[in-house]
Amino acid sequence: MKFFFILLLFYFSSIFAQDRFAQVQIETISVSEGVYMLIGAGGNIGLSIGEDGIFMIDDQYAPLSEKILSAVSDIDDREIKFLVNTHYHGDHTGGNEAIGEQGALIIAHENVRERMSTDQFRAIFDQTIPASSDASLPVVTFTDELTFHWNEDTIRVIHVAPAHTDGDSILHFEKANVIHMGDNFFNGYYPFIDVGSGGDINGIISAGYQALSLANGNTKIIPGHGPLSDAIGLSSWLDMLKVARTNMQNLINQGLSEDQALAARPTSEFDDSYGGGFMNPENFNRLLYQSLSN
Ligand SMILES: [Zn+2]
Repeated sequence: MKFFFILLLFYFSSIFAQDRFAQVQIETISVSEGVYMLIGAGGNIGLSIGEDGIFMIDDQYAPLSEKILSAVSDIDDREIKFLVNTHYHGDHTGGNEAIGEQGALIIAHENVRERMSTDQFRAIFDQTIPASSDASLPVVTFTDELTFHWNEDTIRVIHVAPAHTDGDSILHFEKANVIHMGDNFFNGYYPFIDVGSGGDINGIISAGYQALSLANGNTKIIPGHGPLSDAIGLSSWLDMLKVARTNMQNLINQGLSEDQALAARPTSEFDDSYGGGFMNPENFNRLLYQSLSN
């Protein structure tokens, strides 16, 4: 009987997982001349489309690949030439296999390929993320920075010091005046500091300021999650993170344990505004504590 219920539970949860993606629609937003942002489920996708061809940043979850490719072909029906992964998480790399098979060259920081090649454990959710298939792995890896001269733009892929993970890149389209932050910007939400993957709150804040140093009043900033933003939006999100960091650091300096620090609610002033996303206030505070205690 018990076995039957487990089977039933498994059946319904798999239907739910399929359904979750079945409902997702891909929305295309025009960001700047030749640059687009696609919103579906998972990390926001960036696209540069012009005379040379299609350049893509991140690709969400595998079950969405068909819809994503169809949204891209609504803008331009050529194949995707380059695909850059901002980091290894499955909601940014799930489409790698399908898009790689379609002909795209996959590029990422070397730690992205390394983490995708082996099982990863995420302690905060007690979850193991299995290694990706060989066909999903980035073919070209780099250590510091890479520049594309493409679609009459200069596209810089800049590896930042450990931030959301230890393999993050932000991308700067110099001519189009667009920056893609990967998951170093959760617009409207607390960030996921993936401490188990080398993530660091100090790195998230410095990556934000590094991006702001490249931006001006007209720069469009694509966050990893949440709506399209700009320098003012990123800067006020960083202000929130700095207060959260100071409040937590004070509790650590007083010698409080993780649970005691959590009970002191160091981010209570922000929880209603920023705690409604992937990171609820409790998980954000735990990772913030762990990051600052490392
Ligand atoms: Zn991520």
